[in-house]
Amino acid sequence: MAELDATKFYIDGTWVAPAEPRLADLISPAAETVRGQVALGSARDVDKAVAAARRAFDGFAQTSREERLQLLERIAAIYKRRFTEMGQTMSAEMGAPISFATRFQAGAGMGHFRVAHEVLKDFHFEEKIGASTVVREPIGVVGMITPWNWPANQICCKVAAALAAGCTMVLKPSELAPLTAALIAEMLHEAGVPKGVFNLVHGDAAVGQAIAAHPGIDCISFTGSTRAGIDVAQRAAPTVKRVGQELGGKSANILLEDVDLEKAVTEGVKLCFRNSGQSCNAPTRMLVPKSQMAEAARIAKAVAEAVKVGDPSRADTEMGPVVSAAQWTKIQGLIEAGIREGAELVTGGTGRPQGLDKGYYVKPTVFANVTPAMTIAREEIFGPVLAIMGYADEADAVRIANDHPFGLAGYVHGRDLARAHRVARQIRAGMVTINMAPADPKAPFGGYRQSGNGREWGRFGIEEYLEVKAVMGAAA
Ligand code: NAD
Repeated sequence: MAELDATKFYIDGTWVAPAEPRLADLISPAAETVRGQVALGSARDVDKAVAAARRAFDGFAQTSREERLQLLERIAAIYKRRFTEMGQTMSAEMGAPISFATRFQAGAGMGHFRVAHEVLKDFHFEEKIGASTVVREPIGVVGMITPWNWPANQICCKVAAALAAGCTMVLKPSELAPLTAALIAEMLHEAGVPKGVFNLVHGDAAVGQAIAAHPGIDCISFTGSTRAGIDVAQRAAPTVKRVGQELGGKSANILLEDVDLEKAVTEGVKLCFRNSGQSCNAPTRMLVPKSQMAEAARIAKAVAEAVKVGDPSRADTEMGPVVSAAQWTKIQGLIEAGIREGAELVTGGTGRPQGLDKGYYVKPTVFANVTPAMTIAREEIFGPVLAIMGYADEADAVRIANDHPFGLAGYVHGRDLARAHRVARQIRAGMVTINMAPADPKAPFGGYRQSGNGREWGRFGIEEYLEVKAVMGAAA
């Protein structure tokens, strides 16, 4: 099989060279060596991709449900065949341990095609409201901008939903994880996605900005930082397009007094450190009763110190490096801020873990007695850094959880399920997990407040890409 190539774009059903030659190196996060190159596109490449997507739209929008179901089925089958390659590609380019990259990261991507297929089977594109018929129609050309941290998951949840809806699309994946996108493009090509329906342009912020502003694009689906999400929405505003935003998080994990502390702290630490802490929905603020702070810190220290950090290609590695030098430096600065502002450093700290002198490795770090005003309680660190905070009572826990401009996720642990549900309902976030229930690919994914607008995954993901038309006076 030919090696994946990120120096070409996939436009109108074929691999093409960029309009202007501009390349950036792809750096291995584990070895800090150059492992390839990515082409950085320009507004001219976006123009070409949008033109192809516009030409393809009328035809694809008219395809039957059955045709689109078959397409999704073929994609899922090809994905399954290349599943291991998908895990290896992500592990090498963004540093997730191979076991995690394969099972969870690659699995999440494939899951979205399966779920889209299942949801599309009985999706209601039409309903009667009063004397009118309300029709849901594909919105048009979707511009997709994605990050590097769960690359296949983020691309596939958008692409699967857009295909199910009957939309065409232009994707700009992260310049740090372009090979995952190239692999997905190969799969879509092999599955027979009609030319122009899916287009891929690699590049940095400039390509994302060109997509956001493009008058030929009807809807943007952006996943990434709040900073970039705001910029995208501002650039999209003059053309009045719909903008879906999946942005940052600083999610609280409330441990109620009746919890099995050993179990809940262990699970909370592990989930916070998963993917080297680079998940938007990571439970990064652990809220424990003040009386249990010392015990929670003791458990968290033991869990953090047992994490196997190292080469992501090894089967037994639990935590790989973070994605880039910039990310590593940012995390170091935030750990320093925690120490400087008086949080109790329980374990970890600045510098690389012992024995790892190359690669963007970060020490699994736990701070206790963190207060809500501290930088590490406010900033999204996007690294393996946990802040344990104390609360006085249930109302105080809810207040601290909600005392943040983000509202992506929340977590509640408690033996009394009725109480856990009551607390869950008070958390102002798009997704709240009780007792570490597994992620549900059919449930809506997205956040309140500055964590974004709109929802992805399952039925909600397809709805993002549909327009609503009221047909009145046609009482058929
Ligand atoms: P980022 O915002 O730097 O980049 C995301 C994407 O946007 C990349 O493709 C990038 O090239 C592009 N981009 C950057 N600046 C842009 C601009 N001004 N205009 C248009 N496009 C631009 O984010 P990142 O570092 O790749 O990812 C980490 C961030 O993503 C974190 O804040 C994390 O919380 C967030 N995230 C959110 C979710 C979610 O679903 N809520 C999921 C994953 C990641």
